[in-house]
Amino acid sequence: MHYLDESLTCAEAAEDPRDYLGISQLGRCARASGMALKPDVYPAAVQLESLRFWHEGHTAEDDIVARLQRAGCPVYSRQLKVTFPERHPLHERVWGHIDGEVPLVPAKAEGLGVAGAAPRLDLAILEIKSLRAGALKKLATEGTVSQAWPQYGIQAHTYALCRGRHWVAFLVKDRNDGTIVECWESFRADLAESGIAQGLRVLSDLDAGQLSGRDYNPGSDWQCRKEYCQFRDHCLRAGA
Ligand code: SF4
Repeated sequence: MHYLDESLTCAEAAEDPRDYLGISQLGRCARASGMALKPDVYPAAVQLESLRFWHEGHTAEDDIVARLQRAGCPVYSRQLKVTFPERHPLHERVWGHIDGEVPLVPAKAEGLGVAGAAPRLDLAILEIKSLRAGALKKLATEGTVSQAWPQYGIQAHTYALCRGRHWVAFLVKDRNDGTIVECWESFRADLAESGIAQGLRVLSDLDAGQLSGRDYNPGSDWQCRKEYCQFRDHCLRAGA
């Protein structure tokens, strides 16, 4: 194992278990999200490949934010902790950190067909994704990030709801050749509502002392492969 892999492994082992449901988990498998909140019962089996993948993702985020700032684009609220408003049942039980917020400048608003309608300083949720080779082809085919990868849409639009933002700006980097594609989406309440429904489902199942049902099929879905689901063995042992 080389130095970087060893460092990633040590850092992962030193991490405190998460005691909250992450907004980044909404849109993924509810059963896995529930298991992640019970580390004593369901210790995660994190693969080295997953650690490398996450590390690449974080590095891409830092790199793209630095490039935006060097180019003169302000990035606000970097790594700001975001949760639901007070009195919402998910307030402080579900939260996460945003990559940042960027201004919807007049030129951008014009390109999106909302010139004049967008306040000059309206901010958009910034979501940076670093995906495997070929991902950008899927994005080109589907048209938007939320169409291509609904789980990313659910996370980003849930953040937009929590922050009261009308726009999400995705920057998607192809890990193979470094190409970056920008995709702006206006706020989608349906995706944020899916996020809320899933958060409520995971937490109510946990409060009732039970595991959520499977959202995927371990026999055929890629989401259940060991490099994507750290709870696969527990899931199989626990039954349907
Ligand atoms: S193996 Fe699949 S269904 Fe089971 S917890 Fe993981 S993602 Fe969910």
